[in-house]
Amino acid sequence: MTEAQVTKVEVSAYEVPTDEPESDGTLEWDSTTIVVVEVHAGDAVGLGYSYGDVSVARFVESMLSSVVEGRDVADISAVWLDMGAQIRNAGRPGVGMMAISAVDTALWDLKARLRGVPLVDLLNAAHDAVPVYGSGGFTSYSLEHIADQLGGWVAQGIPRVKMKTSRHPDQDPARLDAARKAIGDDTELFVDANGALTRKAALEWAHRFRAEWGVRWFEEPVSSADLEGLRLLRDRGPGGLDIAAGEYGFVLADFRNLLVAGAVDCLQADVTRCGGVTGVLQVGGLAAGHQIDVSGHCAPNLSAHALCGVLRLRHLEYFHDHVRLEQLLFDGTLSPDGGCLRPDRSRPGHGLTFKRADAERYRVQ
Ligand SMILES: [Mg+2]
Repeated sequence: MTEAQVTKVEVSAYEVPTDEPESDGTLEWDSTTIVVVEVHAGDAVGLGYSYGDVSVARFVESMLSSVVEGRDVADISAVWLDMGAQIRNAGRPGVGMMAISAVDTALWDLKARLRGVPLVDLLNAAHDAVPVYGSGGFTSYSLEHIADQLGGWVAQGIPRVKMKTSRHPDQDPARLDAARKAIGDDTELFVDANGALTRKAALEWAHRFRAEWGVRWFEEPVSSADLEGLRLLRDRGPGGLDIAAGEYGFVLADFRNLLVAGAVDCLQADVTRCGGVTGVLQVGGLAAGHQIDVSGHCAPNLSAHALCGVLRLRHLEYFHDHVRLEQLLFDGTLSPDGGCLRPDRSRPGHGLTFKRADAERYRVQ
């Protein structure tokens, strides 16, 4: 049965300056680029996006639009497989999967809007809300800024927060002191080294983080490409400190490799990188088969819907950059309530509307 045919794929990209310079253990940046895909079926439009370089937009135009146009909106998995087949030689991991992710999320949104239902209901969701953790605490921030930002999330009722570490390890004790003082003893404190440390340094810091500041979560202590290193941290690090990675998982095999290696206590996945809603649901099944929880990485307003369909959901990263950018560019963004993001079931699709006129000044493609 034909539901509705995709008539056009529209792509644009926007580079939005950050509110101040940001850095983590291995990268510095002062802007964030979002690639927006709008999939049309007659008058109906589905909206998807990915956080990636402007080249992701070109990739969609060059490799994917022709695969999607003319297809039935109901057949998302078939289109997803055909997009993957189309880019075999151009490259699936990286830019290729970010492009597929943006198209896939637009297709899911379009399908839900055509049926007049919220996206979460199209997924046979396992949850109706997603716990979040506040995420920021950049290594470029002053101690006062770290305290204000992390303390602000706690004041909003979010009981867990994450900060960046390990760019200048000698500065971290004062940074963690400031964070713990601002958030009190009852808030879970997470740290993210973004792969900055060697195995031995990471092991030493794992014990210090846990013993001195009660840290609960150590993300990418070593590079997420170092599966044996992550496993070593997991086996020899202190009890109560979870090792997490997965934000650079693009294809399903990336997640399988982390799980088979026993590299993570909790698997991260990014809906804008791992193949969109279709990809997240696959990662969710894989993780459930390994008895491992999933935590969503970034893009909070898209993730809130997709993650409701993940059986072993733990939480979602409420990332400062993306919260700010999504509020700038979209109407219908969600606000944390009781430490959760709850998809708005009164709106069809994921509920976001693109503020095209407001976005225009940031347009780069
Ligand atoms: Mg991270």
